[in-house]
This record gives sequence, C-alpha cells and structure tokens, in this order.
Amino acid sequence: MSLTTKIMLGMIAGLIFGVIANRINVPFINDYLVDGLFHMIGTAFVNALKMLVVPLVVFSLLTGVFGISDVRLLGRVGGKAFGLYILTTAVAIAVAIAIALLIGPGVGFTMEGVDTSAVQTADAPSVWMVFANIVPTNPVAALANTEMLQIIFYVIVVGIAGLMLGEASAPFVKACEYMNDLMMKVVEIVMAFAPIGVFCLIARVFAQQGIELFVPVMAYVVTLTGALLLHLFVTLMILLKVMTGLSPTQFIRKIRPAQVFAFSTASSNATIPVTYRCVTSRMGVDNSVASFSIPLGATINMDGTAIMQGVATVFLANVYGVDLGLSGYITVIAMAVLASIGTAGVPGVGLVMLTMVLTQVGLPIEGIALILGVDRLMDMIRTAVNITGDAVVTVIVGKSEGKIDVGVYNDPEAGDAEG
Ligand code: ASP
Repeated sequence: MSLTTKIMLGMIAGLIFGVIANRINVPFINDYLVDGLFHMIGTAFVNALKMLVVPLVVFSLLTGVFGISDVRLLGRVGGKAFGLYILTTAVAIAVAIAIALLIGPGVGFTMEGVDTSAVQTADAPSVWMVFANIVPTNPVAALANTEMLQIIFYVIVVGIAGLMLGEASAPFVKACEYMNDLMMKVVEIVMAFAPIGVFCLIARVFAQQGIELFVPVMAYVVTLTGALLLHLFVTLMILLKVMTGLSPTQFIRKIRPAQVFAFSTASSNATIPVTYRCVTSRMGVDNSVASFSIPLGATINMDGTAIMQGVATVFLANVYGVDLGLSGYITVIAMAVLASIGTAGVPGVGLVMLTMVLTQVGLPIEGIALILGVDRLMDMIRTAVNITGDAVVTVIVGKSEGKIDVGVYNDPEAGDAEG
C-alpha cells in the first residue's frame, strides 16, 4: 500500500471516528482520547511539519538560485508566478461572487440571538508597507518568525551574492545541496507518521463539530463549498490544460497528499514541505522554479480564502438586506486580493481578512459571528484549494520555462514510494 493510500485511509477513518464520537458523546472518549491523546499527537504532527518549513525553504531556495545559470530566469519565474497568483485569486473571487449572487444565500436570515463577542478584527494593510516590509531588518528574526516573504527576499539576495562570488562559493553550494537533500529526508521521516497524524487531526475536528452548527447557515456552507470545488476542479484545471497541455487527471492524482495535509492542518504554510514534494518528486517540476514558487504561493496566493470572502460578503449583504452594487463588489475583489498578499497562510486568517473586506464596503463586522461556527471546516476546504492553486501556477511556470520533466509528470508511479 502506498503512503498516499495510507494517508487517505487515515483521513477517512478519522472522519468516521470523529462523527461517531460526536454523536454518541461519551465523556471518556471525548475528554481523554479526542482532547487528550489525539490532540497531543495531532499537535505534535503539525509542529513537526512547521519545524520543516524554514530550513527546507532556505536550502531548497539557495540550491535553486545556485542552480540557475542565468539570473534573468529568477526574475522571469518571479514575475510570472506573481502575475498568475494575482490573476487566479481575482478570477476565483469574481466567480465566487457571481455564483453567490445567483444562489442568494442569506436572504430572509436575521441576526437575532447571535453571539458577536468572539469576532476579531484587523485593519487593512497599506499596500506600500506590504511591499516595504518584504525587506527584513533582521534576517534572524524573519527566520524565527517564519516571515515567508522576508525569508524569500533575504535568501535570494544571499544566493545572488553567492553567484557573484563564483568559484569561491563552491563549498557553500555543495553544503546547501547536502542540506537540501538532508531536509528532504527529514520530510520523509515526518511523512511516515502522516497517516496517524492526519487521523488524529481529523477525528478531533469532527468530534468537536456537531452537525447543529451547520444547519442555520447551510445555504452559506453549500454555496461556498460549491464555489470552492468549482474552482478546484474546473477553473484551475482548465487553466492548467490550456496553459501547459498537461493532463489534469495526473495533476489531481499527484497533488492529493498535499491536499490531505492542507485539509488536516488548515495551514498553507505548514503544508509547504508536502506541496513542494508533490510538485518536484511527483510532478517533475525543477527545484529552481518550485523552491521559489511554492513558498511564495503559500504566502500570497489564496484562491480558496478569496472565494470564502466573496461568498461571505454576499451572504452577509443578504442577511443585512444591503445592495452592494457593482462598485461594492469590485472593492471586495480588490481588497481580497490585497489582503491575501499581505497575510500568511495559517489557520483562520481568512476570517480576520474578511473583517477588512467588510469594513471596506460598510457591512457590520458582527455578521462574522454567524459563520464563525462553521469556519474551521470551511478553512480546511479552502486551504486545500489554496495550495492546489500554488501547485497549478508552479507547474505552469515550470512548463513555460522548460523546467519540468514531463516524463515524471506523466509517470503514475513517480515519487510514490515516498508519498
Ligand atoms: N488557512 C488558510 C491557509 O493557510 C488561510 C485562511 O483562509 O484562513 O491558506
């Protein structure tokens, strides 16, 4: 049985266990097993994934920069990836708003009796400062706090300096290559625990989330899930096919482990090592593209999160009986794209971003309380969409630069041994 199959089984078993535990509600199971043992294993597993992120990004990116014979490639890869990330996010939210307007979730709903005390807010980031802050004042602090854009910036500058030193850099380049191989082995070790880790994470979420939470906002949940799946299986796959000619079926098969991790952890950042593995070992994208594009995507590309914001805005506009009009929705699109650049891929950040969007179009932020209860599950689905978008763009950029091994991409077994 391949590791991917085992991880999928872990997820399904966790789902079944969680739903049953929630239904029968036995204190021993819920308190000691789910909230005790499973919580411990799940947290340790997510911690282990996060522990990989910074060293993996640093060394794979350094190796990537050193492997580039032509520095202009770096600029081209960056430009293309950035452009595509913005474009896919904007398309995602525009389609989501259209779907939500068509279905009309939230019409006839009232806010009475909704507890609004747990709603967090945030201010919109200034566009200029988002870009200014890509330059770290202290690289060590950037590494310690997983400030992904700052890390990418710093590592690329160091990499370019290394290239400029030429021969003198040879031992350092070798060391980085070794460290990159070493980190990939550590990824393999952590991945070996994935089936059990995923089981514990999923079991806990479903044991805690009763179906009662979903009933009042069912229209929102269904519209959002529909829009997310549409983006995942239709929009992104059409984009992949049109821009690369590569098979979407192979893509879906090969990205699955990363989607399961994203679903289980609700964090694009924590999933970076797995997404990176999927696009390199399983799909054959060269490290020189993937090492840059994947961490960048995890930070600035959030198609699923943007979709959530589009649907949530329409939903809340309906709840409050407000007509936002075309200009209102264009503001929503612009804000959501901007917010996704300025915020990191960690659990729940989408809701905080939503407060910026709502403030911008003048909808009451308290409305978020309505969808708070279902947000964890929605977060899991949208994170899987987020990382799929990262991988699609990476494959497109890889293909356009001739930096993908199509043989590996089309080989159903490639990279399977390690998951
Ligand atoms: N959890 C999402 C991610 O990591 C962000 C969000 O929508 O909350 O990509």
